[in-house]
Amino acid sequence: MTEGRLAGRVALVTGGGSGIGRAVVDRYVAEEARVGVLERDAERAAALVRDHGDRVAVEVGDVRTPAAHTASVARTLDVHGRLDVYVGNAGVYDYSARFEDLDAERIASGFTELFETNVLGYLLGVRAALPALRHSGGTVILTVSSSGLYAGGGGALYVASKHAVVGLVRQLAHELAPDVRVNGVAPGATRTALGGLSALGTAARRLEPDGLARHIPLGFVSDPADHAGLYTLLADPRDSRFMTGAVLPSDGGLEIRGT
Ligand code: NAD
Repeated sequence: MTEGRLAGRVALVTGGGSGIGRAVVDRYVAEEARVGVLERDAERAAALVRDHGDRVAVEVGDVRTPAAHTASVARTLDVHGRLDVYVGNAGVYDYSARFEDLDAERIASGFTELFETNVLGYLLGVRAALPALRHSGGTVILTVSSSGLYAGGGGALYVASKHAVVGLVRQLAHELAPDVRVNGVAPGATRTALGGLSALGTAARRLEPDGLARHIPLGFVSDPADHAGLYTLLADPRDSRFMTGAVLPSDGGLEIRGT
């Protein structure tokens, strides 16, 4: 039997209880990594332990708080002994709230909730993981979005947050080279439970992306597992040791939509 591509490696995935994060956890475990997870939903956290047992070390907490990251890194190191791959992934969506429909108060509260999750959450996570990543010569992978590259896939808040994540990939790659590589994956429309914002009254909304297929050159909406291989490639230095500061689109060809 051949060894898994990530045998001996340890990863930490935020938002690993659902959607793209869960697909990454499942794939990493299948590739024989051991995985830490930071997830705010206790039921999803319990399901991870049920399905993967001692391959996962799950911390329930909110990525907007520094202490949650300290705790999840400490737990991952405690249980698995090292950290090679940090995947910042937990995120929320603005359900394409149109700028002109938002008054100043909702722009401010929506901004706080969305940027604290999608941008601050990544900054705090990488900061907490950095000493262990430096020690292992590890790598960072951030979930961007096609909204980090194009307009129209969200509202101003979400699109701005994902453009900010592209900035994080580039600046952190610049600062952390040559010790730690930093790259991003930019998925397009994906069937997940991506939630909205309490501040905009959309926290319980769920994506219904299937109608988007006609706007996608490859003609279909993706499943979370469709992106997981890219996270494996970026986690494995044998395949990606010359890559840093890159954002890999996985979006059915939005770049070649034409006019
Ligand atoms: P999802 O809701 O299925 O998964 C996100 C997970 O993050 C959930 O388990 C949720 O409980 C957790 N989470 C959310 N906020 C959190 C917080 N504050 N603290 C801790 N955990 C938190 O959604 P998904 O679509 O898999 O989203 C994952 C990432 O993918 C996000 O960054 C999202 O912006 C990005 N993305 C999604 C799509 C899509 O079409 N679904 C496309 C491009 C990018």
